[in-house]
Amino acid sequence: MTDTGSMELIRQIPASLLVKRVDDNTIHASKACLKLFGTDRLCDEFLQGLKFYDAKSKRLLVDDAHPFKRCAQQHVVKLKVRITSPAKNLNCIIKGSLIKLNGLHLVVLHLTNVQNNDLTHQQPALGSPLANHLEFNRLLSRISSQLINVSSDNLDELIEMKLGAFGEFSGVDRCYIFQFYENGTLMDNTHEWVAPGITPHKDELKGVCADDLPYFYNVIKTEHVFKVNDVSKLPASAALEKQEFERERIGAVLCTSIHLNGNLFGFIGCDIVGSANNWREHDVIYLKLIGEIVSNTLANMTNKQSLEEVTNKLAEANKQLDHLANSDGLTGIANRRQFDTKLESAIRRGTREQEAISLLLIDVDRFKLFNDTYGHVAGDEALKQVAQAFQSCCRRCDDLAARYGGEEFVIILPQTDTEQAYYIAELAMQAVQQLAIPFQVSPDSDVLSVSIGIASQKCSTVLTNSKLINMADKALYQAKEMGRNRIEVFE
Ligand code: GH3
Ligand code: MG
Ligand code: MG
Repeated sequence: MTDTGSMELIRQIPASLLVKRVDDNTIHASKACLKLFGTDRLCDEFLQGLKFYDAKSKRLLVDDAHPFKRCAQQHVVKLKVRITSPAKNLNCIIKGSLIKLNGLHLVVLHLTNVQNNDLTHQQPALGSPLANHLEFNRLLSRISSQLINVSSDNLDELIEMKLGAFGEFSGVDRCYIFQFYENGTLMDNTHEWVAPGITPHKDELKGVCADDLPYFYNVIKTEHVFKVNDVSKLPASAALEKQEFERERIGAVLCTSIHLNGNLFGFIGCDIVGSANNWREHDVIYLKLIGEIVSNTLANMTNKQSLEEVTNKLAEANKQLDHLANSDGLTGIANRRQFDTKLESAIRRGTREQEAISLLLIDVDRFKLFNDTYGHVAGDEALKQVAQAFQSCCRRCDDLAARYGGEEFVIILPQTDTEQAYYIAELAMQAVQQLAIPFQVSPDSDVLSVSIGIASQKCSTVLTNSKLINMADKALYQAKEMGRNRIEVFE
């Protein structure tokens, strides 16, 4: 038998075979093999256009890794591959063997299509439609259980993995999600999975104008399913879509809309690259279900994130309100309200620890005269500066300077005895002196001064805010009596 005779024999074998002579590069295919790829025309363009990818690593198998080469070297191989072709693309198991036929050394690759679903229909599926439904249900429950407790850190990655699981199950070339925004006028390709050998487009499909794909947008919005078996047969009104699909070499496309809380969220879709495809009713249902799972996951995450944002904003608002409620409007230091609470808790804590507490009651000297001389605005400014000076005297974190009212201030000094309190009072007086706010008309000093009354007590259950304040007030009164610009201690 001649060489051509042998090859003609191979063509007629009712199995999907790709054959090549060891010493020649021409590839031959059986009719059954062509049928598997959905073509009946044996041409060089088809055979030379066949590309083999490792199913797991997605790497293109070339040189020594090419199935023909591997088989020639190892005599027998078994590989799981993705084959892309100018016609259909297939997931296959290849069993290769080196045989001798009529004196010719031939590498024979036997292809078994492993697509076992209804999304592509190259050949009768391995399983019945019922088996496919069961398989799909298993996939669906696997996907949903894995997406249920996902965290925001790996959400996108996980969604793309799930699109991949579905894409592989379906035998499609690309599976993706688009999300609408700006009232549906723009869309982003947010997630994408591609089969080996297929160009990804996610990064370039951001901010796509819905107006640029009017036919598609209208169908997905009104009919919720966009099903194109053969892109080349799209109507003239879909010229823009056809152009875009052809740019991406998409031969068939199926998309279903995703709704969240009654609003159009986006769509999930899958493509067949390089050839047409006959989508069936099941395909639409499967795709819709996957779309719903993914969108619910995205919605849960968005809800969780917006809940977190609201909680943070609320906490921030509370902090601001708290600050407003507890600080003095003019000087910015603690107000009377904060002083009351802090003093009460300081006495309580001091009682537990059996410690002393001191309180400085400070009054600006002859402030009425200051206002009358320099005006109220200058008076306010002076009060602000004095308040800051007292604040700077609070060295420990529990010390608190507050505006008690008018031109009167207080400093709480927990765990502080008379001697230490006197030292702080001196610091406070000096700090005001150092401000050097001119007050020429004062009979006491030529700069603004203060008088301070000190009350130091051991904390106990009978000590109250008002008792301590009264003691400090008495000392302050004495300081005023004794000529102002001085410190007196309640004895
Ligand atoms: P003494 O040395 O005895 O304390 O004399 P004094 O003038 O400071 O005391 P008096 O209680 O007679 O007057 C307090 C003055 O403080 C009267 C009031 O107008 C002024 N004052 C109280 N609060 C403010 C304020 O917020 N801004 C300004 N500019 N003045 C204030
Ligand atoms: Mg006063
Ligand atoms: Mg005063």
